[in-house]
Amino acid sequence: MKIYYDFHIHSCLSPCGDNDMTPNNIVNMALLSGLSAIAITDHNTCRNCVAAEKVAAAAGLTFLSGMELCTVEEAHVVCLFPSAAAALAFEETVAKTLPPLPNRPDIFGEQLICDEEDNVVEHYAPLLATATDISVDNVVELVKQFGGAAFPAHIDRPSFSITAALGTLPPLGFAVTEATHKADPAALCEQYTEAHGKPMLLNSDAHYLEHIRVAGAWLDLPDNTPETILAALRGDIPCEWAR
Ligand SMILES: [Zn+2]
Ligand SMILES: [Zn+2]
Repeated sequence: MKIYYDFHIHSCLSPCGDNDMTPNNIVNMALLSGLSAIAITDHNTCRNCVAAEKVAAAAGLTFLSGMELCTVEEAHVVCLFPSAAAALAFEETVAKTLPPLPNRPDIFGEQLICDEEDNVVEHYAPLLATATDISVDNVVELVKQFGGAAFPAHIDRPSFSITAALGTLPPLGFAVTEATHKADPAALCEQYTEAHGKPMLLNSDAHYLEHIRVAGAWLDLPDNTPETILAALRGDIPCEWAR
């Protein structure tokens, strides 16, 4: 079956994410956009996935709890998990490697944690817009330990991508790659041989509701469950894809 996806969406917990990016607003926009599966991927945290997982389940939308990890090389890697509980366990490991700095909402933006009715239950204090101490060399294996899958974020971007940080896309164990939805996958596969022959996800990296993808790019998988999607993103099962 074809799964229309957007696996890179920021919520109001990302300092750069719009405050309207609440769990219910994101899920409802995804449904309006015809998507069959989404992930919320805030910078270095998974805490809004707890509410979003419940909202998505009630709406019948497949949901992956995620994080956009900033590695020590200042490269963004999207990490997805089968449940919010697994994602939070991963976050515990990540949080230990963040510098102990408080957020400055006036400079970086607010970091809002919501409940499943979109009430703000916490203004998250630690600064999330920073690099962790985790290397790109270790991400794939670390994420697998929590039942997840990881892929390099927006490899067509000139900043905060592995390609920007390292000047290339070395073999790091990723089974899929990601580019922004305006990218040309064929040109990127030519530029980066490591991307060749692998599915390339074309996600929105939305920070505003109106930027969430309209159904277009798809993965063809046996079913639309987090476990099957993660198996495909780890390269454990083959998957057809198209933009
Ligand atoms: Zn990014
Ligand atoms: Zn992002």
